[in-house]
This record gives sequence, C-alpha cells and structure tokens, in this order.
Amino acid sequence: MTDIKEVGSLIFFIDDNLYSVPAAGTVYFIAENKKVLIDTGPATSLEAVLNGIRQTGFKPEEIDYIIITHIHLDHSGGVGTMLQHMPRAKVIAHHKAIKHLIDPSRLVNSAIEAQGREFVSGNGEVLPVPEPRLIPVNDGETLDLGNGQVLTFMSCPGHAPHELCIIESRNRGIFVGDAVGHYINGTDMMVPVTPPPSFDLEQYIATLERLKGLDADKIYFAHSGTSPQVQEKLDLAVRKLRDRDNIIAQAAAENNLEQAAERVIKHVSNELVWLREHLRPVYDYWTGVDIPMSAAEHVRYYKKKHGL
Ligand SMILES: [Zn+2]
Repeated sequence: MTDIKEVGSLIFFIDDNLYSVPAAGTVYFIAENKKVLIDTGPATSLEAVLNGIRQTGFKPEEIDYIIITHIHLDHSGGVGTMLQHMPRAKVIAHHKAIKHLIDPSRLVNSAIEAQGREFVSGNGEVLPVPEPRLIPVNDGETLDLGNGQVLTFMSCPGHAPHELCIIESRNRGIFVGDAVGHYINGTDMMVPVTPPPSFDLEQYIATLERLKGLDADKIYFAHSGTSPQVQEKLDLAVRKLRDRDNIIAQAAAENNLEQAAERVIKHVSNELVWLREHLRPVYDYWTGVDIPMSAAEHVRYYKKKHGL
C-alpha cells in the first residue's frame, strides 16, 4: 500500500517511496475535471505512484497532465517511464527544462558528477520524453482544470534555474518542488537544499520573498508533506540560507575557506537531532547526499560571487 492523504480539496499527497525510503519524497495528484500529477519521482518510484493514484479511486490512464516542478532526477527521472502508463498525458515543464526532458543525457551526467554513479543508479532508467508530448510554460501562464480550479505557473529560480512553482486557486496552495527546502510533515525540520550546478543564493531568496507575497494558505513540499504555516516556513528558509552564508563568510574572514563546507555540514546536521532519532532513513539520505552536496555548492557560489 502506498501512503496517500487528501491534503486539500481534491488534492492528494502520494508518498513515492523515494529510493525505498518512506516519507522522503512526495508527488501530488489533483483530481479535478482535468487530472494532474505533480512530479513523477524517479522510475524506481513507478509502482508506488501508480498504486497511489489507484488508491484515490482514479486510474493512471485518466491523467491529462504531468507537471514537473524541476528536472532533478528525484522529481522527473521517471517521467518517460510514467508516460507509458498515461497514454493521454502531456508533460508541462519550465521552458528552460524542455531540452533536458527531450534528451536527458546531460542531466544524468551532471547528477553523476554531483552525487556519484552508485547513488544515481538508484533512479532507475531515465527515458526521454517525446517532443510532441511536451508543453513549455513561462512565468504567469495558467492552466484551467475546470470547476474553478486554475493553476498558475511561477518561475522560481535559486535551487535550480528551471524550477517551477504551481499555485492552485481552490485551496490557495503552492506546490513548491524544492524551491523552499526539504521538510518533514508536522515538524519544524526544514532544510533548504542548494545543489550543483546552478544554485544561486540571491535568486533563491528573491524566490522565497516572492512566494511570501502570494499570501498563500498552504505549501505542498516535494520532500515531504504539507504545511499551513506558509510565511513561517518561508521566513525559516531565508534565515537558514543566510546563516549558512554567514558561516562561510566567517570561515573566509579567518582565511579558512577550505573548512567552510565542513562547518556548514556540522551546523545543518546539528539542526536535525529529532530527525536522527525518529526518522533515521530520511536523516541518512539527507546527511549522506543532500547536505554535503549543498554545502560544497554554497561554498562554490560564495567563492565565485566574491571572486575568491
Ligand atoms: Zn528533490
């Protein structure tokens, strides 16, 4: 059984059992007149997602649109495989993401560079998306799902240049992908993730400020779950990013920049005591891959920005 919950009117959380870790990754299913899947997870999440949709009482064949929040493999790696089970589905993505969905080879190589071949193999096969099934979108475009539910797309760079947030009108919620951070449902565990190759701190913070301006009622995180404390979570993400930047600046001031990544990793890991004690597999996933990768990339960004 897949873990599913209705988290907004006609909006279902589906735990995609990301990398066989429960509570690590979420895709969302919107069951309006037009049916939408937000993210697919990697190909290794296929069964969990298909079962999750069936458990809501609908069929995967009914999906009209798959919307990709961004093309990192844990979100979109399975889209080509998923399409084989959704014969009428079109794939909507940020216009900057389209070429990587048509030809995922550069994306896969960049993931191997960042995360190592063994970790990346956990995504399973990354199939291309046939071009006629793709719909590029830009900031401000909308998609009417019928019965008053309208989605608005928002370009949200920072975590990645091709990150798309989706605002839904029925519950005044925002699907944020990884634009805010990794979160654990019902806790104050929240960690912004700043992966290579294109993390940009100032853009990330500008995106968070812009999301705050929407005054939304709900955030749907891709990792993992939903929170009604929208402004609080957005403020927390800004503060955590600034804290890390200050740690790196401090190391630079001490002429110790080579220790900066290690200090950031320690700082972030210290925030995760609850996670280590209660959700060890998620803690291991975050601290094993995401946090070291984020720290190294933040230091790279800092050096580049300050010409070091
Ligand atoms: Zn992710």
